[in-house]
Amino acid sequence: DNHLLSRLRAASVGREDSVFAQIPGGDPVTFGELFAGAERMAAALAAQGVRPGDRVAVQVAKTIQAIELYLGTVMAGAVFLPLNTAYITPEVAYFLGDAEPAVVVCDPARAEEIRSIAGGAQVLTLDEAGQGSLRDLAEAQVPGFRAVARGADDLAAILYTSGTTGRSKGAMLSHDNLSSNSEVLRDYWRFTAEDVLIHALPIFHTHGLFVATNVALLAGAQVIFLPGFDVDAILEAMPRATALMGVPTFYTRLLADPRLTRERAANMRLFISGSAPLLVETHRQWEARTGHRILERYGMTETNMSCSNPYEGERRAGTVGFPLPGVEARIMVEGREAEVGEVGVLEVRGRNVFKGYWQMPEKTAEELRPDGWFITGDLASVDADGYVTIVGRAKDLIISGGFNVYPKEVEEVIDDMEGVVESAVIGVPHPDFGEGVVAVVVPSDPGLTEEAVMAGLAGRLAKFKQPKRVVLVDALPRNTMGKVQKKTLREQYAGVFS
Ligand code: ATP
Ligand code: MG
Repeated sequence: DNHLLSRLRAASVGREDSVFAQIPGGDPVTFGELFAGAERMAAALAAQGVRPGDRVAVQVAKTIQAIELYLGTVMAGAVFLPLNTAYITPEVAYFLGDAEPAVVVCDPARAEEIRSIAGGAQVLTLDEAGQGSLRDLAEAQVPGFRAVARGADDLAAILYTSGTTGRSKGAMLSHDNLSSNSEVLRDYWRFTAEDVLIHALPIFHTHGLFVATNVALLAGAQVIFLPGFDVDAILEAMPRATALMGVPTFYTRLLADPRLTRERAANMRLFISGSAPLLVETHRQWEARTGHRILERYGMTETNMSCSNPYEGERRAGTVGFPLPGVEARIMVEGREAEVGEVGVLEVRGRNVFKGYWQMPEKTAEELRPDGWFITGDLASVDADGYVTIVGRAKDLIISGGFNVYPKEVEEVIDDMEGVVESAVIGVPHPDFGEGVVAVVVPSDPGLTEEAVMAGLAGRLAKFKQPKRVVLVDALPRNTMGKVQKKTLREQYAGVFS
């Protein structure tokens, strides 16, 4: 038995002719076709000498063939290793050097470049139409590949973290890490074969791959498979869909379009947000416009999903809800558990927690306690009702003049001001205070000034929390998952107090 694959396949057994993916402008793909494609991919990989436990590194556009490659890799007993399509060759070189894959699959246009850094790995190709040398090899195989037996604790994937706080780390995820978490999510969010999920997320990250794709497969649900985020395509799909999974920027961009209405969202039952904090304001605007309360959840590469707002019951804006069934969570302050409302470092434990960082035993030992608790590095608090609020990353905490400043607290006050779209608050070196607070602000009112923001903060926050500098910018730097790149901002403004 192949632990993960047999679970991902179970819901579609006997329903092979049902549609798995609707592809705008293309033919629909049935479950039968999807898994036959995966069997051909598995056979192609095996024919290339891929053995159980080998890594298959994949940097390709989002296509059904890429999903087949994911499933085929798992089926062949190998370890799927997806890479962000935005990574340039020197970045890819780091990942290949670290993971030492047997095969690298990339876009044909980059095959030569990738070959020069691939070491002993074989380089195969797959383009944005799902064509390339890997596809040719797969087409030459007959379906019917028998899945290689893999147990619950065998590795199914190595997924690199987003690199928001430092160099990306390869999180080793087992078959059971992935299947158990996606099963919990399917049930918690009530996904069934009746659902039609708008899939507009990239598939090189937990959110699009292990949340969206795995949950849809486990439920036997349909996906409207979009190559990327596109307001027109999502609005067009919405009347035939029941669910959307997105990052916060999906929601803010959709809200900016007047075609987003209650009528258009009438067939939808669920809007889910995660990967980065959803502003309370976005939550409110979404409800006012569509009548739906966005369900926010929290997770990370190392743990898949850990917390979620409830399906029934109050979805509380600004919180990530409760620990999921089977996931324990605690908040630690200097070796003890936090009081209600007190901020500390969030730790989680459960079947969802990864097996450690690939080839980084020291890093693993620092963050994964021997008794199974994983130190997330996120600051959080729990309220009296048990709702968890993510306050930010421990690494983003500012210590100014010996006092702790939580960026989120300052950002919330600034974001509330007239004339402000959003803000990011960071700490940079300061000769007197160690770190000085800097607010990077995106104005909606072109007349907004540094002085006006400062004046708006006076009397609303203790003096030590108030920014010593306010910089106005057109937009905050974000990665593809909508995460604000505070590291970039800290570098950019490192010199403002010197
Ligand atoms: P790296 O670990 O390499 O610095 P990263 O932490 O951004 O990168 P991911 O694993 O993609 O890599 O992201 C997980 C992080 O995303 C969480 O630790 C948390 O900080 C943030 N996050 C995810 N969901 C939410 C949410 N709903 N609200 C706030 N933050 C969230
Ligand atoms: Mg992280």
